[in-house]
Amino acid sequence: MYNHAAAIKAQCHHAEAPRPGATRFPEVHMQLIDDPDAMYRLLIQGVVDYAIYMLSPEGIVANWNLGAERAKGYTSAEIVGKHFSVFYSQEERDRDQPGQNLETARQTGRFEAQGWRMKKDGGSFWAHVVIDAVRDPQGNLIGFAKITRDISERRENELQVLEAKVLAEQYSAEMASLSRFLDSVIANIPASVIVKDAQTHRVLLANQQAEALLSVGGVNMVGKMLSECLPHEVAVYMDQQMGDDLRAGDIRTAETLISTNRGPKTLRSRTVLNRDPGNTTDYVLYVAEDVTVELAATARIHHMAHHDALTGLPNRVLFHDRLKTTLAQAQGSEKLTAALCLDLDDFKNINDALGHGFGDKLLRALSNRLRSELRDRDTLARLGGDEFAVVLPELDTAEAAEVTAQRLIQAVRPPFLIEGHSCSVGVSIGIALSPQDHDTPEQLMGYADMALYEAKRNGRNRFERFRAQLDEAARYRRSMETDLRTALHFGHLQLHYQPIVSQNGEQISGYEALLRWMHPTKGAIMPMDFIPMAEETGLIHEVGNRALNLACQEAANWGTEQTVAVNLSPVQFSNPGLVDAVALALADSGLAPARLELEITESVLLENSDENVNTLRALKALGVAISLDDFGTGYSSLGYLRSFPFDRIKIDMSFVREMANSKEALAIVRAITGMSNSLMIKTTAEGVETVEQMQQLISEGCSHFQGYYFGRPMPAAERLESVNE
Ligand SMILES: [Mg+2]
Repeated sequence: MYNHAAAIKAQCHHAEAPRPGATRFPEVHMQLIDDPDAMYRLLIQGVVDYAIYMLSPEGIVANWNLGAERAKGYTSAEIVGKHFSVFYSQEERDRDQPGQNLETARQTGRFEAQGWRMKKDGGSFWAHVVIDAVRDPQGNLIGFAKITRDISERRENELQVLEAKVLAEQYSAEMASLSRFLDSVIANIPASVIVKDAQTHRVLLANQQAEALLSVGGVNMVGKMLSECLPHEVAVYMDQQMGDDLRAGDIRTAETLISTNRGPKTLRSRTVLNRDPGNTTDYVLYVAEDVTVELAATARIHHMAHHDALTGLPNRVLFHDRLKTTLAQAQGSEKLTAALCLDLDDFKNINDALGHGFGDKLLRALSNRLRSELRDRDTLARLGGDEFAVVLPELDTAEAAEVTAQRLIQAVRPPFLIEGHSCSVGVSIGIALSPQDHDTPEQLMGYADMALYEAKRNGRNRFERFRAQLDEAARYRRSMETDLRTALHFGHLQLHYQPIVSQNGEQISGYEALLRWMHPTKGAIMPMDFIPMAEETGLIHEVGNRALNLACQEAANWGTEQTVAVNLSPVQFSNPGLVDAVALALADSGLAPARLELEITESVLLENSDENVNTLRALKALGVAISLDDFGTGYSSLGYLRSFPFDRIKIDMSFVREMANSKEALAIVRAITGMSNSLMIKTTAEGVETVEQMQQLISEGCSHFQGYYFGRPMPAAERLESVNE
């Protein structure tokens, strides 16, 4: 058999004798040198990191070292003599990979590759394989030297490095993308961003907004000191915001008005110090928003919330604040504070007659006049509609408030010239003083309002000071109001009927229904003592309905054709349901409409006359009669008689009473009856107390009579049923 070891030795140049002067080996080793075969065998067999073995030219394993045994699991006895293809997978064997590799080594002298190799136990490892063709000195192939190394671990490491590299590249790409994204955010946020190095104080970053708004000429700020690229004023401001006194963790916020490239702007800024993990200050970040527009809008909203849009004067909210503040400041001083309530007289009529546009102009002109009569420290407010109010602080005397009130009345007195109309309006004023009247804003205004009510009651276009009696009167009115509600609830309102006589005093043609309030403790209360209060509080609608329904029901039970007359308050005409209420009262009671008369006064025609005349026509269309009450006491315009076809005119009792002694009174009675007769309108003389009066009225042509001479108002059951009783 061919001596492989010898052949390998022949290939090995190291096998030469030691050079002269080389270390001398001990004797035993010298024996090995003398027997190179044994030496190489020992050497190769002792190598454990490499599988080293020989193959025959056909690929049969010829020998086997420890390294091979360790790498592949076969012992020498198990593998020597077997074909080396057992180290390949079945798939590789199927395509003759082992043969091809040997062929490569045979032709080129060497095959080298990495790949999977199989172990005895069926496992595999990643191997670095070298197959060298071994030839004898004559060049004949005598076999192959095969060196295999298990490099699974190295390959694993390489794979991990590769994977790490891929990940690093991915991460780097992500970071680059994130960085671009952040750059885009910083470039596009509607705020100015500046970052400076905390050590060198040079600008590291400034977005476009910051440069356009702040830097001199909008130039690039990066790399510069702030003082080099900002106007002096802005640089001083920046130094305040980004200065060295900022401590880590602090967030400095500020709202500062500064002069910028776009004019004066209020910047709302935040400055923070960024520290790196070593806790050394790294850079300073400044972010600022331009809040000029926002602040202006807030200011505008605030102004709108506190001022009246029409006149620009403080509104009720601000007025209340000012009054409160003034009262607080006045505490402990000798000075007085006055609260004035102002109300225009008959402003509603102006609005109705000339329109709201005109009314608005009048209010503006009027508020200018009022304002010019006041001191700077006084507050004039419009509370709404035609209501104004004034706070007069720091007065020495109560009279000073009266003097101012009088001046305000005088200022309003000259006519206003608006849109070619000359228009006059009066103002009534109520005054309350602190501390003598009260020292809380609410109570003081309540008292000023009571004084205003009194001024209106006393004839308007005047002022009144608050007095304790006004409070008592107001309390009385309030308690009466409560009582009246109770009275409505419990049916304490009754009707008394006064006869109306016709046929020269011989026949009762009907009755006037008159309200009586049967108060449980105060006794019977007459209409004049509670109707005005009912009109003020709006209770009149309920009271009026009650009277209407009661009158219709009671009259329906009389079993006669006599009429029943019910008084309507002018205030009831403001209720759009009035006509329906009358129709319902008729329907509910079954009273023939012709038996119902409604008495109105001239004031119904004075206010809102077009609308009210329409209501009267609708009432008349129901079939009821309409009477004009108390004629002769008001304006007594004959125009009223033309504007609506009244069924009856009632001559006020004052003329009847004075008729005997006053030629004027008699002339008026004569004029009314004469005119009424020619217009075919019935006339009722009120307040007839004597037979002489009746005879006189008969001779003047009066058709009907009413008064104590015939009978007083009585409950339905006790009413006078015939003149001859
Ligand atoms: Mg009447």
